[in-house]
Amino acid sequence: MKAQLTMKGNVARSVNPYGCRQEVLNEINYVKAQPKFEGAKKALIIGGSSSYGLSSRIACAFGSGADTICVSFERGPKEESNIGTAGWYNNIFFREFAEKEGLIAKNFVGDGFSLEMKENVIRYIKESFGGKIDLLVYSLASGKRVDKDGKTWFSSLNPIGQDVSGESINLETEEMYIQTVKAATPEEVEGTIKVMGGEDWEWWIELLREAGVLADNFKTVLYSYIGPKMTHAFYHDGALGKAKDQTEESAARITESLKSIHAKATIVVAKAVTTKASVVIPILPKYLIALYKIMEEEGTHETPVMHIYRTFRDMLYGNEPNYDEKGRLRPDSLEQNAETQRKVTELFNKITAENFKEDFTAYKLFKKEFLNLNGFEVEGNTIDEFPFEELLKLEP
Ligand code: NAD
Repeated sequence: MKAQLTMKGNVARSVNPYGCRQEVLNEINYVKAQPKFEGAKKALIIGGSSSYGLSSRIACAFGSGADTICVSFERGPKEESNIGTAGWYNNIFFREFAEKEGLIAKNFVGDGFSLEMKENVIRYIKESFGGKIDLLVYSLASGKRVDKDGKTWFSSLNPIGQDVSGESINLETEEMYIQTVKAATPEEVEGTIKVMGGEDWEWWIELLREAGVLADNFKTVLYSYIGPKMTHAFYHDGALGKAKDQTEESAARITESLKSIHAKATIVVAKAVTTKASVVIPILPKYLIALYKIMEEEGTHETPVMHIYRTFRDMLYGNEPNYDEKGRLRPDSLEQNAETQRKVTELFNKITAENFKEDFTAYKLFKKEFLNLNGFEVEGNTIDEFPFEELLKLEP
């Protein structure tokens, strides 16, 4: 069979497994080419199958020699027209590359919000992972969550208090259009906090602490986004922004609960990058094609692996932590730089439905990064024709 790109709006509906393998390898090679650092040795990544979570896993494994456990929600191959998700293949090929270097790379595929998953991971840490972890990265992005009591919550990407309109980009039709997003209802805001807030992060930590599997000086991080003023109406001041604010309270409670083992929970405010989750945020794409262009010109454009590697090496485990007044780590400072943002706004205001694909924007880079997420247009050695049966033999 041949891997062929199919898309619906800003969602890729197909995957090239061997493109994903090469993309994982490219990210690993990026980290291997950088200096090693003294960081995590035993890391658990919740949401480690793609983008920021996968980058965290790669940065730990190949930057500081960590054994890793990944929890993710992905699908494997069923039939030729449904060969599963990119994250399924990222997990498999990451494991193969890590094992070649003598590292443990365990994949758990299922619902990370559930008690069953937490118990399975804890059992594995005790029985097969040396008994303790020193880092937990919480990098989950989801549209829904079933909580402890069996209630299903849905997250929303909508603003609060008012409808918001702005230009967005449809990557399938390659058109810029006006998108209007309705104000979220109070129930939608509550649901978003339940799904994308810190409640489940706290539950993971509570169970891991009770099980005695957290090492002294344990660290845990959760990725947040703030962004510049021009994105606040539909992000920071919207339902997702509210959920992110709530994670700061969770971080404080986690740190307090882990005092006796000198552990710390940190909110890392990461930069805007192209991921499965970010490309469907209303109105954000037009900002991204302006931002990337300016950051490229300034030599500061980063993909997730570049951003997370730098954050871990210099900030989380290094001597140059950039904390803000709320104690959050701010690797997004390059994106938020005032002069950068002045240039981004200037460029943003020149972008129209007629000209957005021209080379004065980073549209081409944005689209390429999007395709790379599903194994298309990846640099290097990709195979796009393979027997379907071969995929069935790949095990997480
Ligand atoms: P992503 O969609 O690429 O990854 C989400 C991960 O969550 C995947 O590994 C997926 O398998 C996993 N997942 C989803 N539901 C799950 C479930 N029920 N159980 C277990 N795993 C599940 O998303 P991303 O953009 O890398 O986002 C990760 C985090 O980074 C989010 O908290 C997001 O808000 C934050 N962040 C993203 C950006 C950005 O620009 N993308 C910027 C700053 C912060």
